[in-house]
Amino acid sequence: MFDKIVIANRGEIALRILRACRELGVKTVAVYSEADRDLKHVRLADEAVCIGPAASTHSYLNIPAIISAAEVTDAQAIHPGYGFLSENADFSEKVSQSGFVFIGPRPETIRMMGDKISAKKAMHAAGIPCVPGNGDPLGDDEETNLKMAAEIGYPVIIKAAGGGGGRGMRTVHTEAALIAAISLTKAEAGAAFGNSTVYMEKFLEDPRHIEFQVLADSHGNAIHLGERDCSMQRRHQKVVEEAPAPGISTELRNAMGERCALACREIGYLGAGTFEFLYEKGQFFFIEMNTRVQVEHPVTEMITGFDIVKEQLRIAAGEPLSITQEQVTFTGHAIECRLNAEDPVTFMPSPGLIEQFHMPGGPGIRCETHIYNGYKVPPYYDSMIGKLIAHGETRASAIARMKTALSEMVIDGIKTNIPLQQNIMADAAFAEGGQNIHYLEKKLGIH
Ligand code: ADP
Repeated sequence: MFDKIVIANRGEIALRILRACRELGVKTVAVYSEADRDLKHVRLADEAVCIGPAASTHSYLNIPAIISAAEVTDAQAIHPGYGFLSENADFSEKVSQSGFVFIGPRPETIRMMGDKISAKKAMHAAGIPCVPGNGDPLGDDEETNLKMAAEIGYPVIIKAAGGGGGRGMRTVHTEAALIAAISLTKAEAGAAFGNSTVYMEKFLEDPRHIEFQVLADSHGNAIHLGERDCSMQRRHQKVVEEAPAPGISTELRNAMGERCALACREIGYLGAGTFEFLYEKGQFFFIEMNTRVQVEHPVTEMITGFDIVKEQLRIAAGEPLSITQEQVTFTGHAIECRLNAEDPVTFMPSPGLIEQFHMPGGPGIRCETHIYNGYKVPPYYDSMIGKLIAHGETRASAIARMKTALSEMVIDGIKTNIPLQQNIMADAAFAEGGQNIHYLEKKLGIH
């Protein structure tokens, strides 16, 4: 195991990584921006290095500053968390070239999965079911494009190969709109992602978002930890996540999970990862792979009793997976509510001073947050300030525990989305389970 690692992130995930390091006896180096001196993990870390001003382009995205922090502190590895540089192949390459271990997959893998076209091709070749549409880059020949859309069947979606964060996509419902939609999406993708390549696939109208957690080591072993349902979304951003996904049978879980684990072995995947699928009428369709730890990993940890972040460290240190597929068990149900510093109705960010904070507790409750009394939420970063996770024997008991926990939680001084989460937890259709990705926006009257 490593002696010391750099945590190249902030907020709750930086604290989560620090806790995993402490359990493993690994020393930690926090890197932080000038706006983040008071972050909880910065205070708890063995060492802390300021890497630049508040703007993330000058700090959390500043590759040379992060690598020098590793150099000056004699650290051996860098954990990128999620967001920021976690899926940046150039960063992982530079980390290795500078003599450090990047805690994540190899740069080639990150690069392949970062381009949706190459990811789709690789997954198709590895036997993973993909959304209908061959995934080839669209050329300028109008007739070919019209023919392709007719073959797939309307509605279709035009997607940017380099897209991300729910951007760079356009749905087309009629033949008349196709040609203009392709050129518009190309132009937008070029401007937004520096890559105007787009492709076409079937637009699924009633899907759920279901994803599989995988882990793969450097000895050729790969396992899955089951699935999560992340269909409660607003603007393609997850709001509530849960595991297992309601209505997925053990047979289907095992079959899909096994396919994902097999695909990992075939592409030489390393570390923790997630295969994201749209699930419609009993069928899974691959949309993308996330090559990092995800915000929602705790729901999987709660039902498996397995620590994904510690395993990321073990894998990066060259150890074999600490469990086999047969040893993976699923107990009960877990739900996660993301906690955002934002207006619960308008969704406007609400940074500022936290005057009072009371953390909920009780059986099955886990609170992942870096906030504390007197902490000031800076305006420069993502508005997520934590996550509340509830585990119960059944889905109904997890919801009941979540409701109690949300009602106990006090965050005064700033606005939060706690009222929105209470609204979702009290929703009759949510209680039934299995709603599609459009449900939340429809409920909120957003179209
Ligand atoms: P990003 O990398 O921007 O997150 P994804 O490919 O993961 O993009 O898609 C994000 C979301 O966009 C999905 O969760 C889904 O809501 C919607 N989406 C993407 N592809 C399709 C499709 N073929 N049909 C319907 N919705 C889609």
